[in-house]
Amino acid sequence: MAMNAPAAWTLAETRARLAARDVSAREVVESVLEAIERRNGELNAYISVDADAALAAAHEADERRSRGDSAPLLGVPIGVKDNIAVRDAPCTCASRMLANYRSPYDSTVAARLRATGAILLGRLNLDEFAMGSSTETSAFGPVRNPWDPERVAGGSSGGSAAAVAANLAIAALGSDTGGSIRQPASFCGCVGLKPTYGRVSRYGLVAYASSLDQIGPITKTVLDAAILLDAIAGRDPRDSTTLEVPPPGCERALETASQDLRGVRIGIPGEYFIGGLDAEVERLVRGAITRAGALGAEIVAVSLPHTRHAIASYYLIATAEASANLARYDGVRYGLRVSAEGVTEMYARTRGAGFGLEVRRRIILGTHALSAGYYDQYYLRAQKVRTLIRRDFAAAFERCDVIAGPVAPTPAFRLGENLDDPLKMYLSDVYTVPVNLAGVCAVSVPAGRTSAGLPVGLQLIGPAMGEASLLRVARALERERETPP
Ligand code: GLN
Repeated sequence: MAMNAPAAWTLAETRARLAARDVSAREVVESVLEAIERRNGELNAYISVDADAALAAAHEADERRSRGDSAPLLGVPIGVKDNIAVRDAPCTCASRMLANYRSPYDSTVAARLRATGAILLGRLNLDEFAMGSSTETSAFGPVRNPWDPERVAGGSSGGSAAAVAANLAIAALGSDTGGSIRQPASFCGCVGLKPTYGRVSRYGLVAYASSLDQIGPITKTVLDAAILLDAIAGRDPRDSTTLEVPPPGCERALETASQDLRGVRIGIPGEYFIGGLDAEVERLVRGAITRAGALGAEIVAVSLPHTRHAIASYYLIATAEASANLARYDGVRYGLRVSAEGVTEMYARTRGAGFGLEVRRRIILGTHALSAGYYDQYYLRAQKVRTLIRRDFAAAFERCDVIAGPVAPTPAFRLGENLDDPLKMYLSDVYTVPVNLAGVCAVSVPAGRTSAGLPVGLQLIGPAMGEASLLRVARALERERETPP
């Protein structure tokens, strides 16, 4: 694709050119549709695209613009992960269970984006019900990494990250329960922000693990992540976990902040640089930390001593909550129904046919962890560990403003490499799940590429509601955007 094709533009650039009437919404949407037409067969980033609806929305945006409407994202197309409800569009969660389901309503994030004039273009692939780290559990087939099609795009928001990286989207929304925004962003070389728990409404996000889930942006630049977070954040009466706090004001903060990092303390947790961390990932992450030092940041050692218990705690809490959340797929209220003699048999057949292997594994694990006799031993203990992890972060943030480390222990792995070994797949989430357990915010920002050319992200973690200063540090360390061949 020509680098000057609108599909290759950043969100900020697209917004500015539309406002200046250098380009029409129709031209932007056509460019994105053309890119999808050309590459989606190979990458499988989108599960579905309604081109007619997108073109109609573009036409409407252009009309509004000609009447003097200047809504901030008027005519900007944005891709949405297929577990976030968009009115009249499919919402499959990459599951056979919801393969034919269409949402009758907008999620709050969709409604907020619409209110800014944005066009919601396309439904992005994911691991089934967002359970996974590679987008290989999708009932619609895996997403391929645009940097190397033999490798995974990461997960569960693999479709969002691959689309943004390969210029099949201007920007996208993902969801992050234990790393699903940050890890695919790291694997694909884009920016992925997991906001603070309570920052963004989950109304209309299909629930996986409700005490951990959060929606956030996957974008080409840090500035774009700031723009998108500002657009979707805020208290929502329909989601009682959203917090009544001042708006994040991320874009303003980036406009006014200086480019250097003087006065910023960056904490390096020793526990994040241990065995299992790929040498090239470590080299690139340490390189970014050195650059932070050169920009004036003070680098301090911090400790997150309970990190080694995070995976066990997360995979108990997440599966326990998932087992409850997924009980609603019973063949009666939503999606698939497999008829059978009697209602119990109908439930069993429907759930057996509708859910894939990984989702069934997690429902069984979670049901076991919550069952009488095991509850104290598993679920309750996991919750206690969670408290310790939260305290680790609170203590670390007394000594630093932002924590820096890897996003994942390795660059993108090969398709199939971890699929038969769930434990290995789960262990790869070691650096991302603690952030969700603690409810704080974190971003993955490109740190460079390995000798084989694979992108690697740097993870920056901030305290609750610290997005504006987090993104300021991310922007200072951001490298010139690279796009896959
Ligand atoms: N890989 C983690 C899991 O499988 C995280 C997924 C997510 O953040 N949705 O649970």
